[in-house]
Amino acid sequence: MNNTLAEIKDRILEAKNIYLASHVQPDGDNLGSLLGLFGALKKINDNVFILKSDDIPKDYLFLSGIENVVDHNPEDLDLFIALDCAEEHRLGRNKKLMDGANFIINIDHHLSNTNYGNINMVDSDAAATAELVYILIDYLEIPIDEDMATNIYTGISTDTGSFIYESTSSRTHRIAADLIDKGARTNEVSINLYQSNSLEKTKMFIEVIKDMELLFDNKVSLAIVTQDKLKKTNTKMDDTEGIVSFIRDIETVEVAILFKEMSENEVKLSMRSKKYVNVSDLCGAFGGGGHKRAAGCTINEPIGVVKQLVIDKLKEMF
Ligand code: AMP
Ligand code: MN
Ligand code: MN
Repeated sequence: MNNTLAEIKDRILEAKNIYLASHVQPDGDNLGSLLGLFGALKKINDNVFILKSDDIPKDYLFLSGIENVVDHNPEDLDLFIALDCAEEHRLGRNKKLMDGANFIINIDHHLSNTNYGNINMVDSDAAATAELVYILIDYLEIPIDEDMATNIYTGISTDTGSFIYESTSSRTHRIAADLIDKGARTNEVSINLYQSNSLEKTKMFIEVIKDMELLFDNKVSLAIVTQDKLKKTNTKMDDTEGIVSFIRDIETVEVAILFKEMSENEVKLSMRSKKYVNVSDLCGAFGGGGHKRAAGCTINEPIGVVKQLVIDKLKEMF
């Protein structure tokens, strides 16, 4: 790891310009890592930019510096740093910018990472990419201010399910503690991300969860978000954050699966597990990936077909 950090440091110090990017469908670790590293690198280089990959869910608009996540079209891209992105195609429209970059650094914690960078700082033991961002900033000896601390803390808090997942280590807690010492506004994060559900979102949760199914001796829970349900409750797919963990938390459940009908022929799956099923492998069977206990994939079929495909796959396991 120290060799990798030294090489990354050299590249960062030499770079004329640096572009940071992460995966489509941004989450807290994606945005927290981008903004945390951006805050640090801005202190040593004026030409640092964040590339927007997708619309930002409104829950994250409170993060300081979020206005820097915009589209850019650089002609000469020197250093591209991908954060929290397991595979190149998950960069969405920014993949072609990466392809034209002089040098690529890949910083991530996904088990399924394909090591597509010229340097790969990939550690699947890290609970969040934000944890690796902290380690890098510490190595670079760049002071962490309150905004950076809040952003990095956000990445760690969201990817650990508020410090409850198995991936949460003593290192995770030590880093979080240091971030709090450096001024991370933990209450701001908790209120904005966990205690600000709209009434519409709450009604949609009820609507979706009332049709939840339990299969395989109640070891598997399934729930489906259709476009109809979103329309009926005046909500958006972004508002589904939290459903899959809710249906995982049932005592008997090992695997929870949320089916999100993005359009007539596109379903995005979010999977969670508790103890022994590797959902990254399960999603890998459908071209996706992630972590042992949290993973996703997209299947381009109608919802009924997708559900059957997944149930057939589960039959092989249970
Ligand atoms: P989600 O269910 O969308 O919260 O995703 C859970 C985890 O799986 C996150 O770490 C995602 O980055 C990862 N993930 C989701 N979809 C994919 C995919 N299609 N390919 C690889 N990783 C994914
Ligand atoms: Mn992520
Ligand atoms: Mn992550």
